[in-house]
Amino acid sequence: MDGTFDYLIVGAGSSGSVLAERLSAAGRKVLVLEAGGSDRRFFVQMPLGYGKLFYDRRVNWGYRTEPDPGLNGQQDYWPRGKVLGGSSSINAMVWIRGDASDYDDWQAATGSSAWGWEAARAAYRAIEDNADGADEFRGQGGPLYIRSGQDPAHPLVAPFLASCEAAGLPRNADFNGAKQEGAGLYQLTIKGGRRNSTARAFLRPALKTGRVALRTGAHVARVLMDGKRAIGVEYQWKGAFHRAMAGEVILSGGAINTPQVLMLSGIGPAAALQAQGIEVVLDQPNVGAHLNDHQGINYTYRMRVPTMNDRLRPWWGKALVGMQYLLTGGGPLSVSINHGGGFFRTDPALPRPNMQLYFQAFSTLMPRGDERPILTPDPFPGLSIGLSNCRPSSRGQISLASADPFAAPKIIGNAFSTDQDVAEMLAAVKFIRHIAAQKPMADLIAEELRPGPQIASDEALIDDFRQRSGTVFHPSCTARMGTDPATSVLDANLRVRGIEGLRVCDASAFPTLIGGNTNAPAILLGWLGAQRILETA
Ligand SMILES: Cc1cc2nc3c(=O)[nH]c(=O)nc-3n(C[C@H](O)[C@H](O)[C@H](O)COP(=O)(O)OP(=O)(O)OC[C@H]3O[C@@H](n4cnc5c(N)ncnc54)[C@H](O)[C@@H]3O)c2cc1C
Repeated sequence: MDGTFDYLIVGAGSSGSVLAERLSAAGRKVLVLEAGGSDRRFFVQMPLGYGKLFYDRRVNWGYRTEPDPGLNGQQDYWPRGKVLGGSSSINAMVWIRGDASDYDDWQAATGSSAWGWEAARAAYRAIEDNADGADEFRGQGGPLYIRSGQDPAHPLVAPFLASCEAAGLPRNADFNGAKQEGAGLYQLTIKGGRRNSTARAFLRPALKTGRVALRTGAHVARVLMDGKRAIGVEYQWKGAFHRAMAGEVILSGGAINTPQVLMLSGIGPAAALQAQGIEVVLDQPNVGAHLNDHQGINYTYRMRVPTMNDRLRPWWGKALVGMQYLLTGGGPLSVSINHGGGFFRTDPALPRPNMQLYFQAFSTLMPRGDERPILTPDPFPGLSIGLSNCRPSSRGQISLASADPFAAPKIIGNAFSTDQDVAEMLAAVKFIRHIAAQKPMADLIAEELRPGPQIASDEALIDDFRQRSGTVFHPSCTARMGTDPATSVLDANLRVRGIEGLRVCDASAFPTLIGGNTNAPAILLGWLGAQRILETA
């Protein structure tokens, strides 16, 4: 590539795209290398195209974990975006910041108010162009349009929220506002009926400045080192290896790929690297460790009233919603799979919500190998109430399965490997049934299909969630920031300790997992990360 670059960013995902925009806005010259291709694809743009992207290897790394004892020995499927916008181009578009106290945790873990709640709140207000208007928490006029959290996506959302209220979970008009607890509608990263990924909201405007160079289909194999200084990267593009140099290298490849690239570059647990024949540059046992992820499960119901199944399943229904979407940009295809949800505590003594709810006005009981069958739901009216834990104590690990940069890394999920995680999930699934037992939902539900009323004892419920639960796609913390060099990889300015000229800026840098979906915090990482990078250049 022509020119000299101040910064080289590996990965144009949620954090990487924001970082490129911020650094270029500050006048810096930036090179972005992205392994995936363009996001100008119909199913990326159409919000409910989500189901089509789920297994599509043209836009998805499509990882599998090792067999997980916590999931009855099953391998979990971990989709990750491999396309401009990264996982923000294949995700479910829910816009959740997390609990304010999560950022108190970040401040404590990093020893820096730069990552605390006040800094986060100000940054989110600057990032957002929120359809619900600006207030003390929300922002308007920023680069990222957020769809209103007031527009019900489906008529069944109202009875669901009424039943939540009857179950003791009051209505919350803004989970990103003064408090997270309660039930309500999700704000979504959707603009004008189209997915609002970070490629759309940040990277494309940045490319127009002329200060950002982008190469797609460029798979970074390793960081080039001069002693303990990063000087550039080696990457594969169009079948050949190339080198690119820059003042600083910033890894934004996401929580699976960033630790992989670090290890391929000789930065990681020494013995494991040597076992793969990789020369050790820095013995850093925390690379790939502390893997933290949310685990979720759906309860599925057959309904007495029509649901989205009735519109999405028959060919004529598909034609109608397709026409509606193409002509108006509206209708069922223009929204997220998640129509509403909430946050609750499994124990009132807890200081903050520890569980997240998802309401989906359709059901997909019958799995299909190659597709998440949202667009082909069950042939009867059905819906799903799902949940995921907020701050599980189980920890997994990313390591190298091979020294081949194009081989998938080894992912150990370790779901439900602590008694605490099992106990809180047991309490949580009981709460789903408690909601479903309340009017008006109770009158609308014909039967619980999965797991079904025969699954009643604690033992059976635990076995069921070990059998049926899976990731909700929020892996984080695999190259985390922290004050203690013995337990973290990065300092509070995202610098890889012990290496010059190398930083990490993506979900792997999270000091702790946020209680909520992780796109907003990954975007925040890019935004605040740029400030840290510019101030400590
Ligand atoms: C199916 C799914 C649904 C989700 N739903 C939601 C949701 O509704 N709401 C929410 O908030 N969060 C959701 N998430 C999570 C959220 O999208 C991610 O946490 C977030 O996007 C992670 O951002 P990141 O910058 O860390 O990584 P990513 O956005 O994944 O970006 C990493 C980028 O780096 C590129 N890359 C990786 N390795 C290399 C390499 N070696 N060379 C070059 N490029 C490389 C990748 O191709 C990718 O583009 C979902 C995720 C998935 C997968």
